Amino acid sequence: MKRKIEKIITGMKASDGDGVQLTRIIASPELDMLDPFLLMDAFGSDKPQEYIGGFPPHPHRGFETVTYMLAGKMRHKDSVGNEGVIEAGGVQWMRAGKGIIHSEMPEQEEGLLAGFQLWVNLPASHKMSEPSYQEVGEADIPEEVRGDSCHLKVVAGRTSKGTEGAISNDLVDPIYWDINLASGAQFSDVIPEGHNAFIYVIEGELRVADSKVNSKQLAILSNSDNQNSVEIEATSLSRFLLIAGKPLNEPVARGGPFVMNTREEIQQAFADYESGQLA
Ligand code: MN
Repeated sequence: MKRKIEKIITGMKASDGDGVQLTRIIASPELDMLDPFLLMDAFGSDKPQEYIGGFPPHPHRGFETVTYMLAGKMRHKDSVGNEGVIEAGGVQWMRAGKGIIHSEMPEQEEGLLAGFQLWVNLPASHKMSEPSYQEVGEADIPEEVRGDSCHLKVVAGRTSKGTEGAISNDLVDPIYWDINLASGAQFSDVIPEGHNAFIYVIEGELRVADSKVNSKQLAILSNSDNQNSVEIEATSLSRFLLIAGKPLNEPVARGGPFVMNTREEIQQAFADYESGQLA
């Protein structure tokens, strides 16, 4: 059976890091989380004062951060010597695990900087694992072409046509697809039964079953027994993300940049950070 749109989310304006203006779409009053997705921010501005401050050094523990750039460049640098620049079309999938301290700073002083950051939870068994990175440039993200009217970049997950994503994660078996559709074109594919899934419209306008979703909106897809596919129609030239993952169904305790299972583990994370033991 096909999934439907269950709820539309527009997110809220927020500021994070050193004054970076963004829209918080998940981890907002409208949508606390969509297991295993803990947070999603969309940033996009050509006004340097809205991004130039970047995200100076800060810690993370207990989950993964996924940065996907649409425009501009972001330099990341961490406490254990990793450094690199994520460029437009590229993705960084970082497992913070037991702890990392990093900065994420614009590698530009003018022009458009745009992209997304998604937080993907780790199960209790992996929250204290070693930090690791998967970083892939645009050229190495597989692209699948379905005729003239549909093409998609397969960041993570395997499409029904057999295209394998650039990123692997066997904990939540994620789908992360960046899909372009011509006006009037349709996209359909498999979403594993039980996965929580959503669409975020970067531009254009889509229809799923009888519901519409507009530009800059997130649509949560229904997740009931036997719902293992989705069919999406573009009612204008559209670009959107389709993201899905297996829910962990574990208790979630949040404390700013740390996401653990219990309050005690959050207190421990703050204590470790303050005593220099986090990373
Ligand atoms: Mn960060």
